[in-house]
Amino acid sequence: MRWKISIEGSDEITRGHRFEFEIEKSLDDLIAGNVGLSIDEGKAIMASLQRNIIERQCALYVLFRRHCEGCGGTRPVKDYSTRTIQTVYGAVTVESPRLYPCRSCMPGVDFTITPISELCPNRATAELMTLTAKLGALMPYRAAAKVLTDFLPGQTPTRHTTLRHRTLAIGKRLEEKEEQRMLFEKVDTQERHQRELPLPGDPEREFVLSIDTAHIPQVRGHETRSFEAVICHASRGGVGSDRGILFAFSGTSRKRMRAEGLLALKRLGYEGKGEITVISDAEDCLKRLKSALPQTATHILDWFHIAMKLRPIEQTAAWLARRLPPDEREELLEDITAVRWRLWNGQTDRAIDLIGRLFHDLKAVEQGSTAIVPLRGGLLNLRTYIEQNRGSIANYSARYREGKRIASTAAEASVNNLVAKRMVKKQQMRWSERGANLLLQVRVALANGDLAERLAYQPPIQPRQTIISPFVPVPLFQRAA
Ligand SMILES: [Zn+2]
Repeated sequence: MRWKISIEGSDEITRGHRFEFEIEKSLDDLIAGNVGLSIDEGKAIMASLQRNIIERQCALYVLFRRHCEGCGGTRPVKDYSTRTIQTVYGAVTVESPRLYPCRSCMPGVDFTITPISELCPNRATAELMTLTAKLGALMPYRAAAKVLTDFLPGQTPTRHTTLRHRTLAIGKRLEEKEEQRMLFEKVDTQERHQRELPLPGDPEREFVLSIDTAHIPQVRGHETRSFEAVICHASRGGVGSDRGILFAFSGTSRKRMRAEGLLALKRLGYEGKGEITVISDAEDCLKRLKSALPQTATHILDWFHIAMKLRPIEQTAAWLARRLPPDEREELLEDITAVRWRLWNGQTDRAIDLIGRLFHDLKAVEQGSTAIVPLRGGLLNLRTYIEQNRGSIANYSARYREGKRIASTAAEASVNNLVAKRMVKKQQMRWSERGANLLLQVRVALANGDLAERLAYQPPIQPRQTIISPFVPVPLFQRAA
């Protein structure tokens, strides 16, 4: 059995493109049970279609670019070479001429225009670039390269370096788009026209930035062995609200923190009104974010981190209490519970006093017990932590009752998802700060679900084109990714 597939097409300039190709299906094959088209035949059909369509499109674009807008003349061809374009349906090699500028409009000017590289600066279609970046962001580059080769037709075996290159190119593109957005979507904190007038105690009134950091091992040859990536989750509406935006950056640039923070807040509806709360554990870089925000922000020490320090103290105390006489046992357990209660209710000074007293009293408990040393150590550790962050301890109990956030778990879960699995736990992997940051941008966009939207962002006002005509990019054929 033979199938002849013929395709007819026309375009703005020429009519009657026609091409044909054939596939053969043998009877033996059918008897063997292979009904219908196989994956390979499907791939071959798509690859053939793709090749013919791209050849025509490129030829049309070259014709279009040969036309001089100035005088209506034709730009002469300097020479021909070929260029391979990678697509989701295989690689297509097309003829790629280089053009001189128009002889009558720009006599004696010596440079060339390569229309095909304008169409495809990365030698891959925008769709393939985005798809590759998604895969590259979700799994190690080598695994992603294999998936790509296995599932897409006509892919020349993709190397992991290609995967990395494309993923980082998309990351860079995201960063450029984000910079444009920052430029054009400044939050004007002077203009107070935020729509709703929130009631006191309304969780919507509060904008929460939960922050966590991760240390990513650095490629060798740097002064430090690791660098810091900051993951931030911006949300509104308290616990249970699923409105949240992630953003991430490495390094501690105040300008970048401010811009990213503002942008996220703005997407949540911030227009200069409301309360901003920053939740984090006690890291210096995070305190800087607080000062980089458009209005006074409250910093809250993450309850989760306090609880993490309380837990071993409580466990050791419980173990110790079982070995004490009943009255002493009661007292110790009550005191330990009171430490937690006071911290939970924001009574910092009373908590510090109690920890101090416990620390002192425990010295008197008979020295034979092995639990005394770790217990006192834990208490000392907790007291230092509380004292250093005295101003950042909130009344967690009240916040909890009002349904407000008390822990940066959103950011922490994200650190685990975005960074830890890929960049920290695999200790043999080392990253350049730039590469890690670009990968992080792609991962954050995927987590937020707005990768396509962010790549498609166009600034509202196009800067006026003052460049001479051969360089003017044609809006119809925007640079692919
Ligand atoms: Zn001309």
